[in-house]
Amino acid sequence: MKPIGSSIYGPVRSWRLGRSLGVDLLGVDSICSFECVYCQLGKINRVTDERQVFVSTEQVLEDLQNSNWQTADVITFSGSGEPTLAANLGETIEKIKQVTHKPVVVLTNSTLLYQSQVRRELLKADKIFCKLDAWSDACLRRANHPHKGISLESIISGIFELRREFEGFLAIQTMILKTLNEFEIEKLAKILQTIKPDEVQLNLPTRPVPREYFPESRGNSVEFKGGFTQIRTIHKNELENIRTKLSEITKLPIITR
Ligand code: SF4
Repeated sequence: MKPIGSSIYGPVRSWRLGRSLGVDLLGVDSICSFECVYCQLGKINRVTDERQVFVSTEQVLEDLQNSNWQTADVITFSGSGEPTLAANLGETIEKIKQVTHKPVVVLTNSTLLYQSQVRRELLKADKIFCKLDAWSDACLRRANHPHKGISLESIISGIFELRREFEGFLAIQTMILKTLNEFEIEKLAKILQTIKPDEVQLNLPTRPVPREYFPESRGNSVEFKGGFTQIRTIHKNELENIRTKLSEITKLPIITR
């Protein structure tokens, strides 16, 4: 399979990480175990929960050499879908760290964390950001459209196990979605109290959602010519109310953008 572009992109400016160099281990297509309603990649062309090598580790290392990696603060595994679907994730993290000596961050949708092999590979990272947008299976289906067989229980227990095994920085990333998950915040608080993440990041879906797979949206680019939809969000004040409530109940660091 031929990658659509380079498996390395950026560095792009990230509000949480500074100058972040992106690594895309999926880059032959948009590939994920979710089809989130707000996905900035646009359409997910391959919805799967099967791990395989999509872009070889050799190709990634070659693309790294041709990139501007020296100017990055961190190396972030994200890209054209869910990075834990790449069977060479652990190997690539290890090799990139050997070359760059920079901290590695992995953004995951948490669906494969129930697999001990996936968790073992992630232990090589310095920071892991785990997506959690739902606190009921009905909400999971409406917000994230998971591949069949993925349940909220397997997601939460996977994050919980990772939290026990991983000594680095673990954050929960939650997209607050109007009419979908903005309610029953106490249920989210309860889950967070069990996981005990280092941080909780609350976001709103402010970026446009392309109607087709849009590879350039791996980075910060939002200037594209194709059709897109803009998701209606709750107001910033409402987000702040949710942040305050979560913070009061859990006593965890809760940040918003
Ligand atoms: S998990 Fe990420 S890549 Fe996958 S559909 Fe959701 S937003 Fe898109």
